[in-house]
Amino acid sequence: MNQVLEDAKSCTECGACNEFCPTYKVTGEVQLSPIGRLQAAIEVFEGKEISEQSVESLNSCLACMECDAVCPEGIKVTEIVLKSRSKLVERGLGPLPGQNRIIEGILAKGNSVNGEPEKRLEWLPGEFPRRESDTLLYMGCLGSYVVKDAATSAYLVLKKLGFDFMLLEDEGCCGTYIYESGKLDLASELFRKNVERFNSLGIRRIVCLCPACQECFKYFYPEVVGELKFSVHHIVEIIYDLLKENRTLLKEVQRTITYQDPCRLARGESVTEEPRELLSWCGAELKEMEKNRERAQCCGAGGGVMTVYRDLSMKVATDVLNMAETESIVSSCPFCAFCLNRAAKAGELTKRVTYLTNIVLDSLP
Ligand code: SF4
Ligand code: SF4
Repeated sequence: MNQVLEDAKSCTECGACNEFCPTYKVTGEVQLSPIGRLQAAIEVFEGKEISEQSVESLNSCLACMECDAVCPEGIKVTEIVLKSRSKLVERGLGPLPGQNRIIEGILAKGNSVNGEPEKRLEWLPGEFPRRESDTLLYMGCLGSYVVKDAATSAYLVLKKLGFDFMLLEDEGCCGTYIYESGKLDLASELFRKNVERFNSLGIRRIVCLCPACQECFKYFYPEVVGELKFSVHHIVEIIYDLLKENRTLLKEVQRTITYQDPCRLARGESVTEEPRELLSWCGAELKEMEKNRERAQCCGAGGGVMTVYRDLSMKVATDVLNMAETESIVSSCPFCAFCLNRAAKAGELTKRVTYLTNIVLDSLP
């Protein structure tokens, strides 16, 4: 039996994961639960006729790995869902029209947010720094075009701390959206192109603002191109290392905030204490959401869900916002910040989500 099918069939339907699944929590629909998604995966891999509900079930998964973390059978639901999406593509049932629009944008404009390439560097204060380094600061599509204050503050913090890095003027997309939509042929092409470019520039380390870019480079790229010549890090890890012996550099600014753990950074990489320590060195009093650290709830943007099932995404995001008792929330993910701010605006909530380097920059002399 195919391994994915075997894994999906090993589900005992104990239901332990369902209550932790954000899409099930906000809808109560079995088809939008891990059990529903495993059933859909079985249909896909057994070559059965696929209903529209099953297509939705698989494409509405946030790939947040929360079910994986609680499953007593060790079933990797997220992996099974992503493999099922590529099987749907093989069977001519994907990508969905909404996903195709984003993919076409990535191919035409080099980013997933329909940004105009000539505006890519609008976030950059001053001239483009034409310099070589073996470390690339990778801004990502959200940082470059949408959550530009994240890009600006990340850049300025690293410069102020004397960190050696280079930028790419025409950076391009990491391709995670294409990969997670199941369009593996296109994703592989893009991954290879990016890796060739990084290698030709002598890049040995990539520092990402976005945990989704980080996950893509670190885990999806090696699946396709084999061992990488560069290591992959999140900027929070780098800033934490730079400041841990020099924390007196930071001026304490009194504020009460809630730190929101992005799933790919907290659950995926176990980076939970570094951002909290950084924020407390900046003088912040931290409050916690009911679900935090490795058990944090996805913001609602993961797995490409925000682009295709916007209402569902907004419901999950609102649920996360309601878990924060403070108006001010800080995230280490530009995509989480964007999704949560959009939900706050739509729901006329006064909560505001800021990218973490904005706070660090405020505290640096
Ligand atoms: S990965 Fe997240 S959204 Fe998908 S089934 Fe698991 S808990 Fe639900
Ligand atoms: S926790 Fe694991 S075994 Fe239980 S229903 Fe969820 S996926 Fe199936």
